[in-house]
Amino acid sequence: MSESRAQSSSRSYRRVAAAVDAVCAVAADYDATTLDEVVAAVAYERERDIEIASAQLGPGVCGQRRFYPDRDVIVLATALPSRDHTLAHELGHIVFDHEGAPAPEVTLEASDDLIAYMLSQRAHQQIVDDGADELAEWEAETFAAMLMTRLRVFNSRGAGVSVLRFDEALG
Ligand SMILES: [Zn+2]
Repeated sequence: MSESRAQSSSRSYRRVAAAVDAVCAVAADYDATTLDEVVAAVAYERERDIEIASAQLGPGVCGQRRFYPDRDVIVLATALPSRDHTLAHELGHIVFDHEGAPAPEVTLEASDDLIAYMLSQRAHQQIVDDGADELAEWEAETFAAMLMTRLRVFNSRGAGVSVLRFDEALG
């Protein structure tokens, strides 16, 4: 997976499709067939844990990412109508390394924490509510739709991980 944080400034289906291909290739390597397994496979590949949690979030917020020094946490709103889609969407943000903007309610307890936070937001806990950046939202949403389609095809045919690699094989 690319370590680059560079982000394009316009919508690109090709860029999203490439990300989905990469994720599906990783999923195939780990025999991941459910979305939760795909998330675990991506985490293993990045050597950085991705925890999935649920919590009551603010009104209209379906998901949230919490970045800790040692792991990322995807928080899904409780009682979501489409839990998997939201999870895939949040995974998209992580794959694209969308940093987002910290949620305004983040509170810092100690001044040392505040200094660390100001020096490097990524080095400290950061909470990102979904929905601030329009391009990031489009990429995550398109990623989720493509990935869910791919997983549906895979699970309905039961044809083995080769289906996940199908598009990759076509280049
Ligand atoms: Zn989002």
